[in-house]
Amino acid sequence: MIISNSILKGMNCPRCKSVLKLEQIVEDNWLCQYCGQSYPIINGIPILLNESESIFSFKDFVNQRNLFFDLSRKGKVMSLISRITPNMGGNNLGRKNTLFLEDLLLRRDLSYKPRVLIVGGSIVGDGMNDFVNSEKIEIVESDVSFGPRTKVIFDSHTIPYENESFDCVIVQAVLEHVISPTKCVSEIYRVLKPDGLVYAETPFMQQVHGGPYDFTRFSKSGHRKLFEYFDEIKSGATAGSATSFAWSYQYLLLALFGYTEKMRAAIKFFARITGFWIKYLDSLTSINPRDTDGASGFYFIGLKRNQALPDRQIIDYYLRR
Ligand SMILES: [Zn+2]
Repeated sequence: MIISNSILKGMNCPRCKSVLKLEQIVEDNWLCQYCGQSYPIINGIPILLNESESIFSFKDFVNQRNLFFDLSRKGKVMSLISRITPNMGGNNLGRKNTLFLEDLLLRRDLSYKPRVLIVGGSIVGDGMNDFVNSEKIEIVESDVSFGPRTKVIFDSHTIPYENESFDCVIVQAVLEHVISPTKCVSEIYRVLKPDGLVYAETPFMQQVHGGPYDFTRFSKSGHRKLFEYFDEIKSGATAGSATSFAWSYQYLLLALFGYTEKMRAAIKFFARITGFWIKYLDSLTSINPRDTDGASGFYFIGLKRNQALPDRQIIDYYLRR
């Protein structure tokens, strides 16, 4: 059983918070010596859930039940359609932002490699290829599902790491899928070192895309409030009103005619080949500062702080733009 040191450092029991050590692993189970809880390890991936506080259970992973996040859930036809047709629109800034983030981390000139936790990192996020493959940073890729990149599984409402374990946390397209975004952000805050950085991308005008695991959306101001214990370094729309409109076009057709899985696949194909161009209007809408009123999603790069941003300033934040 190989669990790398980079994953292990600061790892603790999600139930009683005591340190987990390699010698506590017995036959694919990690046994907490203090509270007696045992955590299954499947194909080298520890499943560190506090079941009593999670919508997920060990059984989901032991039986390898398909959760929304699993790529395998996408049927063959839909995978083919995704590959051969242009997409409706996604994230225009992921690459630029994560390279900016890497630069911020490296400029700190730390005596060690900056350590970054990726929450929701079972697959490489939009535009994050260069970042996750950087030799200059140490990355812990976590998720609540198996995937090609998952190294540790946990529910982000209870992050199984000690306080101040990371220099940066990335949470891309995740917070809409958690029951309590506020609780997850407070966990991110807790595991960040003083002056730690957060990078979040969260949808705003985007339809349900995670079936039962899709709960919340944030306006630009709402997103700022969510990260109230962080100073803003940079924020903005990941994609604008045109992308929102493109997706609405697809979802309108789906609502009108998509009663069977076959029909839905056909509609998605039709929507893509007739509506893929709409997203390019984002280059025009982004000129208008009010584009954020209808943007598809937002990113936020923030610096950990001890005091919350006063609510009054969140009102000013909208007006200031
Ligand atoms: Zn324990």
